[in-house]
Amino acid sequence: MKAGMIGLGAMGTGMAKNIAKAGYLAGVYNRTEAKAQSLAEELQVTAYPRPEALAEDVDIVLICVSADSDVLSIVEQIAKTVKPGSVVVDMSTVSSETARKAAALLAEKQAGFLDGPVSGGVEGAKNGSLAMMVGGETQTLEKARPVLAAMTGRIMHMGPTGTGQAAKAVNQIMAAGINQAVTEALAFAQAQGLAMDKVIEIISGGAAGNWFLEHRGLTMTHGVFAPGFKLALHHKDLKICQAMAAQAGFSLPLSDMTVADYERLIAQGHGDEDISALYRLKKSPD
Ligand code: NAP
Repeated sequence: MKAGMIGLGAMGTGMAKNIAKAGYLAGVYNRTEAKAQSLAEELQVTAYPRPEALAEDVDIVLICVSADSDVLSIVEQIAKTVKPGSVVVDMSTVSSETARKAAALLAEKQAGFLDGPVSGGVEGAKNGSLAMMVGGETQTLEKARPVLAAMTGRIMHMGPTGTGQAAKAVNQIMAAGINQAVTEALAFAQAQGLAMDKVIEIISGGAAGNWFLEHRGLTMTHGVFAPGFKLALHHKDLKICQAMAAQAGFSLPLSDMTVADYERLIAQGHGDEDISALYRLKKSPD
């Protein structure tokens, strides 16, 4: 079975390396060609010049790009050449509606589609321990499973197309609340003059411990906000969550507050920083 990876950003690069390690990676495509060429050289695989060339050569097409319109434009390109019976898995975080549009486009070419967004950060992508939430048909998932297993620690089949993205929206809403709680609590700890390494270590071992505190706690208190997960991407995800909530007549006050905070940070030029840059506002609210 041959797999190809489209999108070599913070997440896609680690994913591609793990698929290569498992022996499935035939090649990669990236919009900025130089990234594809250097990774292809490192992994001894093909750097495809266009998504169409990748799709006609592999059985499993993996996508990890930024937003809804990016996914749909890639799917439109690969639909021209995708092999009948092959499977396309989109691991970007986008809306359930985009997943259903992509699945319909590919179904016309007898290709399967899975929405398979992930959680676990760049660390999870690097060490192959991502949690993947999958929407789509069982037999399509079973075809792709060996390749997906190379990148993940856990795969959960949520249901039909779009349910993987709906589950990921749950994750993003929760991540917004955790970001608010951790950045606020650590700014408070710093104002109390506490030793931050000790605070983070002891709280990580108790009931308030969490991934974000463990992985981003110390860096944020040192003013280091290298992504990680770009704040502008989480902002994009929360806008999707807000639209889904509005459709269901549901309110998301923590997400609304986080969207407003991110918009302030983006206006100040911090959109490409990690989401832990929210700490900037907690430390100096004005
Ligand atoms: P990133 O580092 O910004 O990389 C984005 C990738 O998408 C780049 O390879 C970029 O190509 C490509 N791309 C964007 N628009 C494109 C288009 N129109 N056509 C072709 N390629 C396009 O982002 P990331 O952190 O890897 O995130 C990727 C996806 O995973 C996002 O949906 C994000 O929400 C999700 N995600 C991220 C994390 C995280 O912790 N970072 C965790 C879980 C899920 P160029 O190199 O040419 O710019």
